[in-house]
Amino acid sequence: MQTAEQCQKLYETLEKKINRNFALSASVCVHCGMCADSCHYYVATKDPKMSPAYKADKIRSLYKYRHDWLSRIAPFWTGARTLKTPEELEDLHDICWGSCTMCRRCTINCPMGVDMALLIRSGRAMLLAADSIPEGVKAVCKDQYEIGNQMGITRQDYLETIEWLSEEHANDVGDPRAEIPLDKKGANVMYVVNPREVKYAPLTLLAAAKIMYAAGESWTMPSEGWDNTNFGLFAGDDKLGGLMGQRLFEKAQELGVNKVVVSECGHGYRATRWEAPNWAKMDLHFPVESFLVTMSNYLREGRITLDPSRNKTRVTYHDPCNLGRSAGITEEPRALLKRCVADFVEMHPNRADNWCCSGGGGAMSMPEYNKRRLEAAIVKADQISATGAKIVATACHNCIDALEDLIRRYKLNMKTATVGELVAEALIWPKAAEEEEIFAIDGIEPVKLAPGEKRKKILVIDDEADVRTYLTTLFEDFGYETIEAADANQGMRMVKEYHPDLITLDIIMPKKTGIKFYWELRKEEKLTDIPVIIVTGFGEPEFPNVNFKKFITERKVPSPEGYVEKPIHRAELLKKVHDVLYV
Ligand code: SF4
Ligand code: SF4
Repeated sequence: MQTAEQCQKLYETLEKKINRNFALSASVCVHCGMCADSCHYYVATKDPKMSPAYKADKIRSLYKYRHDWLSRIAPFWTGARTLKTPEELEDLHDICWGSCTMCRRCTINCPMGVDMALLIRSGRAMLLAADSIPEGVKAVCKDQYEIGNQMGITRQDYLETIEWLSEEHANDVGDPRAEIPLDKKGANVMYVVNPREVKYAPLTLLAAAKIMYAAGESWTMPSEGWDNTNFGLFAGDDKLGGLMGQRLFEKAQELGVNKVVVSECGHGYRATRWEAPNWAKMDLHFPVESFLVTMSNYLREGRITLDPSRNKTRVTYHDPCNLGRSAGITEEPRALLKRCVADFVEMHPNRADNWCCSGGGGAMSMPEYNKRRLEAAIVKADQISATGAKIVATACHNCIDALEDLIRRYKLNMKTATVGELVAEALIWPKAAEEEEIFAIDGIEPVKLAPGEKRKKILVIDDEADVRTYLTTLFEDFGYETIEAADANQGMRMVKEYHPDLITLDIIMPKKTGIKFYWELRKEEKLTDIPVIIVTGFGEPEFPNVNFKKFITERKVPSPEGYVEKPIHRAELLKKVHDVLYV
């Protein structure tokens, strides 16, 4: 394309990109300079051309020339300009593709709220229309358009890899029935991954499989729409962004899963959760969740247990920009790491203020900018080496690649790991009841499972943490799997999600009583048959308004399968549980 034609296309796209957010970011900069020290490119080089405001001006000035009153009269005064020459086009190309990782660190430090990533993405969209796009980005987009994933992995290679990993997984957990399910209809979770996991880092996928196995999750991977990454985000290509989302969402709909869980990928989560439904113009009837949130829920609900002594090396955590700054997922990885490693140390700054890994915004696919990228990465290198950690954990495969690159370049004596890898390493496997040294209580024996038989799942709903711990430990000692909820609302969510075989229910709880919960449960057609044993410390005289027995009689609600009063008589409760589940 000749320059004039390119500029014409570029301006046509600029007009299409203008919306309220773009106009705001293109108009409000007061050139205070506060953003400069937020940008690792500027901090590393002190080059004024690397300050966010300078970079943004390159895009802003094009907008102003046409859309700002003062700029139309006196463009020399405001710096407004048109783009005419190949050199000017090349300059814009260099700014948009090669000098910003769209990390948005400058944005959160800008008093006017200039969204740099929005401006850069719009600039890239204009350049894309003008066919001024780096070869690496072009190749990745082509693979996503034509093959469906950013690494060009064929369907056959993908299916063979999953089959092989499924066998590895069964060996890993010592259970021949364990698998990585594919296209399992009605599964609770559809797990979608970064193609890097399939091609280069299968251990992260095995770690995820192990964690979901330990949690007793019902999950599946899809045979299509499995790539959670989306180069439409980096390339400014809404059409590709929508197509990638559509493939993934339609597969989730076809499989009838309850939710989509995105593996540890920063931009993959942001694109799938926030952007792709808009680009694809689809209303989603299922939530999209980061695997960090899934794992931390497993931990909170007692579905996985971790032993931090399995990871003795000092670990620090790098917040991926798209998770920490743009999605607010900062505490879940910390909750996990503090429970799965013995020596966790924060890097500073952290969370939303963390420094970019230096590889965001698709930078890793543009080798022509490697030198500049790695020079800017000194900021990150200094930050992580100051922690004294030997492992830098993060929840993004793109960050992993960028961090490994800078670890090599700056000769840091460190390794990288995903959060899931560290969690999987620390998993304590629930022993089968028959292997444990459990003695009968008053003649009540632990459940004897037949080979291949799954443990029955009991949901314990009680607002007192001590009671939950007591009951879940007792039940697990006697061969049951347990999950727990601290109030009735959480309990109802867990019933719907995990369909336990039995519920033990407290009556007096804040927010909503066990009576209300029981009433709702019995009214739900799909849940009404789940057996319930009431475990309560309150009889009629003390709490007449929560008189459960009176409620049952007056409302003509079916009676629960058991009623046990606190203090709990263990043998009585265990016998009741056993009789309800097995007799
Ligand atoms: S901090 Fe915001 S207003 Fe100040 S120069 Fe940077 S972009 Fe402009
Ligand atoms: S978004 Fe990040 S890389 Fe881009 S200018 Fe702002 S701080 Fe620098």
